[in-house]
Amino acid sequence: MAEQTVQLLVVSDLDGTLLDHDDYSFEEVLPVLDRMDEAGIAMVVNTSKTRAEWLAMRGDFGNEAPYIVENGSALYDGENVTVFGTPRAKILGVLKPLRAKFKFKGYSDVSATEIMEWTGLGRQSAERSANRHFSEPLVWQDTPEKEEEFCEMLVERGLMTFKGGRFLHVLGQTDKGKPLAHLKKDEAAIIALGDRQNDLAMLKAADIGVVIAAPDGFVLEADDVLRSTETGPRGWAEMMTRILDQLQIPQSQKNTNDG
Ligand SMILES: [Mg+2]
Repeated sequence: MAEQTVQLLVVSDLDGTLLDHDDYSFEEVLPVLDRMDEAGIAMVVNTSKTRAEWLAMRGDFGNEAPYIVENGSALYDGENVTVFGTPRAKILGVLKPLRAKFKFKGYSDVSATEIMEWTGLGRQSAERSANRHFSEPLVWQDTPEKEEEFCEMLVERGLMTFKGGRFLHVLGQTDKGKPLAHLKKDEAAIIALGDRQNDLAMLKAADIGVVIAAPDGFVLEADDVLRSTETGPRGWAEMMTRILDQLQIPQSQKNTNDG
């Protein structure tokens, strides 16, 4: 690995940012990751996915850096784990008495087969997704009014919720921005890239926030950020290439050899 020319750390969301929203492809980012690797710039993945899901995937990115899972709930750095969220057992304990009042079904209520039906994931992926430590995805089966009341009650009980796709996620009072202060122990400037509402705190906590355009036309409202024109991993590669060019980070040797 070459000597680091700039103190830079990249923190990136996965779905819709590093991974294509529809087909989970990511080959566009690989040459840029090679370039970063050769310049000694690490990428910390900051995802709503579980630890098991990222560990199954990170080899494809050649990534061994620290990582943040379950929406800012925990930072894994080698043997060290820093928890910002709430243990799942505690979350399930808070949910239990609320079942008398509200209708919902969570991951903890169903088998991997049902999670496969909910998510469209294969069995192994569904099991990895179910291997949660700091959050509980719920399928809401009650009225929208009751959902609002439910969310307020969880906040009073030290938890919070956010809506993502088909699930109402219950987790501790954390977000993707909280762990960034822990990553900033050296003088590195942090560049963060994300595409959705749950990435906003991360973009704000970073020195440079980059919004990756979404294929469904969703526009994340945020001030003082850079914005890609391309979507998903193409947008990621577009923006990181622009930033690395501006910082005069050399091209990857691998790319140069390809002509
Ligand atoms: Mg995303």
